[in-house]
Amino acid sequence: TELTWGAAQNVMTVLEENGFEAVIVGGAVRDHLLHKKPNDVDVATSALPQQVKSVFKKTIDVGIEHGTVLIVDFDEPVEVTTFRTEGTYSDHRRPDEVQFVRSLAEDLKRRDFTINAMAIRPDGTLVDLFGGQNDLDKRLIKAVGEAEERFSEDALRIIRAIRFSAQLDFKIEEKTALAMTKTADFLQDIAVERLKAEFDKIFLSAHIYNAMRIIEQYTIAKKLPGDYDHVSKWLNFQSISDAKSGWAHWCILTNSREVLSLFKCSNDEKLFAKQVMQCYEILLTGAPTKLELFQLDEDCWLNALNSYTIIQGNEHELAQSILKLKAELPIHNKNEIQVDGKQLMQWSGRKGGPWLREVLDEILNKVLEKELPNDEQMIKEWFTDEWNV
Ligand code: ATP
Ligand code: MG
Repeated sequence: TELTWGAAQNVMTVLEENGFEAVIVGGAVRDHLLHKKPNDVDVATSALPQQVKSVFKKTIDVGIEHGTVLIVDFDEPVEVTTFRTEGTYSDHRRPDEVQFVRSLAEDLKRRDFTINAMAIRPDGTLVDLFGGQNDLDKRLIKAVGEAEERFSEDALRIIRAIRFSAQLDFKIEEKTALAMTKTADFLQDIAVERLKAEFDKIFLSAHIYNAMRIIEQYTIAKKLPGDYDHVSKWLNFQSISDAKSGWAHWCILTNSREVLSLFKCSNDEKLFAKQVMQCYEILLTGAPTKLELFQLDEDCWLNALNSYTIIQGNEHELAQSILKLKAELPIHNKNEIQVDGKQLMQWSGRKGGPWLREVLDEILNKVLEKELPNDEQMIKEWFTDEWNV
């Protein structure tokens, strides 16, 4: 069969021509067997990093201490990693050292789950030493080797298992699940940034509820930042913009933005969640004013309506019309107002001050409410009249 690994195929060819072993590994193999488009195509090789660098024209050291070199000779960059094992783990998150090895089998053995521990050779043959294909067929996430040992080595694997169950809609194999519960304490050693990166992926996945349910049922919740008391309210949730939708929904569920600081979310994510919560509050009490409609973005309204449907169990009466209502506003940006502060000062002969903001806000509101046309002359008349100038 024709293989389409793109630039990775070229990379493997060059390595083989130089007498090294080279294979596609990890997520790309899994996704290929699932007929999904892989995120990135990783190559593993028997060549040592310096040997890899010597057989390509242009390389970048992206993680040379772990054996990873980026090859940029071809139309797409390709990551090549030397076969390696990981030494002992004393902190439940990082190996104390990595060791380069000559055997592919050794490299596959250090990988987290059977579905992630397969390789494909340049001629298309599958290397499957731990029953990965079988687990793919059974839709199972299963640790390679002794599950408890693997999660103790690196507790991030616990949350990775949960993330894959959300992305793939797979179950977690029984022994693996049991081991996750047993080792969950070690999650406290994982940097919150790495946990957040996994939650971002969960929020982009098709089965967020799987993840939340596992976290709660396997008593992992207490070992993680955040509140998991509203698991059922994730059942029909789908992010509508991106991962920040998920964080905003979490805030609405808990009526608090605490989760954002616990996970060190970005300022952008914090602002977004704040605005979605504002929209949600407004929807709870009825309908937004024109000004509220104007001030809060489409994305925020859509996210709030989405959360509303899930939490209240029925659609808000504005669910279908909010975009139309927003589109029908006479203006969509403050700078569309036909007068500015300078004109107000000129017409009144007054110096600038807080009054300016006040009048401009009133004009904005009147224009939005269509009590005043957005026309310089009409606004001037209203202003001179109202403000006795
Ligand atoms: P994605 O679609 O998110 O890229 P992936 O399976 O490619 O999924 P990566 O984080 O890119 O995941 O890692 C690539 C491969 O490296 C994995 O498939 C797995 O074999 C191995 N791996 C990654 N992280 C770990 C880990 N913490 N412990 C053991 N093996 C790991
Ligand atoms: Mg990957």
